[in-house]
Amino acid sequence: MVESVRYDMVVLGAGSGGYAAALRGAQLGLQVALIETDKVGGTCLHRGCIPAKALLHSAEIADQVRQAGRFGIDATLGAISLTDVNAFKQSVVDRLYKGLQGLISGRGVNLVSGLGRVVSAHQVQVGSNLVEGRELVLATGSYARSLPGLAVQGRVLTSDQALRLDAVPANPIILGGGVIGLEFASMWASFGAKVTIIEALEHLAPNEDLAVSKLLERAFKRRGINYQLGVKVRDVTQDHDTVTVRLQDGTELSGDALLVAVGRGPNTAGVGFEEIGVAMDRGFVLTDEQLRTNVPHVWAAGDIVPGPQLAHRGFAHGIAVAERIAGLDPPPLVESGIPRVTYCEPEITSVGLTEAAAKAAHGVDAIETAEYNLAGNGKSQVLGTQGFVKLVRLVGGPVLGVHLIGSRVSELAGEAQLIVNWEAYPEDVAGLIHAHPTQDEAIGEAFLALAGKPLHAHA
Ligand SMILES: Cc1cc2nc3c(=O)[nH]c(=O)nc-3n(C[C@H](O)[C@H](O)[C@H](O)COP(=O)(O)OP(=O)(O)OC[C@H]3O[C@@H](n4cnc5c(N)ncnc54)[C@H](O)[C@@H]3O)c2cc1C
Repeated sequence: MVESVRYDMVVLGAGSGGYAAALRGAQLGLQVALIETDKVGGTCLHRGCIPAKALLHSAEIADQVRQAGRFGIDATLGAISLTDVNAFKQSVVDRLYKGLQGLISGRGVNLVSGLGRVVSAHQVQVGSNLVEGRELVLATGSYARSLPGLAVQGRVLTSDQALRLDAVPANPIILGGGVIGLEFASMWASFGAKVTIIEALEHLAPNEDLAVSKLLERAFKRRGINYQLGVKVRDVTQDHDTVTVRLQDGTELSGDALLVAVGRGPNTAGVGFEEIGVAMDRGFVLTDEQLRTNVPHVWAAGDIVPGPQLAHRGFAHGIAVAERIAGLDPPPLVESGIPRVTYCEPEITSVGLTEAAAKAAHGVDAIETAEYNLAGNGKSQVLGTQGFVKLVRLVGGPVLGVHLIGSRVSELAGEAQLIVNWEAYPEDVAGLIHAHPTQDEAIGEAFLALAGKPLHAHA
């Protein structure tokens, strides 16, 4: 049955990218249909950012109780009930889910429930209904990948199952030292697990600045988190109680759970994209910088577009696509300016180029760096954290990268991204006043150092 309405915009998938497109489109007066087979909010709200950060917050509280004596408070950590922790996590998700449902209906977006299959550039089949529109936005998101031949079952988990466990694994093994692997390693260690990470590349957090990776490795070692770097998995077996991982160097590791955190693939198979001629590369949907696919009137947003798979990138995609469909002309997104945060302990925040990437792009002599150690930052000392701010600049030119590691530095992502995206010169930022005592001040101090006038640092 063809619906009687012909929408201005039909959006397939109601995750960060899709629902942002729908909300912004409706705000601009477009008639919008939003098709979702599961729950609006997608991975981020139900299986990603929000539940993971809620669990990490509980983990931080466990650490704080454990360390309370250091701050003069007599407290003892009793049992950790993952059932209660999960109830807290779910209460956060539920509140946000309810709010999002209210936003979608309040803006007059027509939510169509069911699995959609694209049948033309203007039509999506949902069950027996054909939803029609002038423009179509593909936003079907991503799924957790495994390794070839490694089935996700029993003691072998992806983040989807790991977020729903009702007991903390005692000695989990984590495949992958990227964002998701590091966050689970940190959380499970705080909950008392003996964690081992296996990373095929030479460092944990391999996409971050090398100085950040090295400090993280030292911090994880101090926390008792084990890792094996530069080695790949040969095979995995499991029985009733144990999962065994054999590495290519002959090492054998055993644990009670294996988390496979080796990246996320695009959720684009079997939903009609190729059949209508959308150009794809290994399942990702190819677009121009305006997020148009090669098929006229078909756009894409979020994790299915090659690039960093982040919720805030999805939001930005969705908003930009809706604005273009409504006749506005927003500038293309600059991917290098998207802030990246890993919410392990210590946290990692970065924007822009690492030192190595900046040198590769501009030449070794064109790049200057400065580091400010959080040992000189009053608030960081109150919190008892180690870490640093590292700046990467073009000699005589703007800041190309800001890199931070330390407890709570996720909250500094805002200033870091303004500096990089506004192409600030160190001299501009050095003149700005940062409130004392804040961790933010460490960014100011790093800029004072780069401008040649360090205050709370040895010259
Ligand atoms: C454990 C974990 C932690 C994360 N933490 C963070 C974080 O801290 N910060 C951050 O920025 N990002 C984080 N992410 C990544 C973030 O969740 C994703 O980048 C984001 O959700 C992508 O949004 P999306 O709209 O592209 O896709 P998704 O959120 O995956 O949404 C796609 C939606 O489309 C629906 N769908 C798919 N196919 C169809 C179909 N044929 N018909 C109808 N509906 C369909 C799906 O059901 C889904 O709801 C995390 C991810 C994970 C797994």
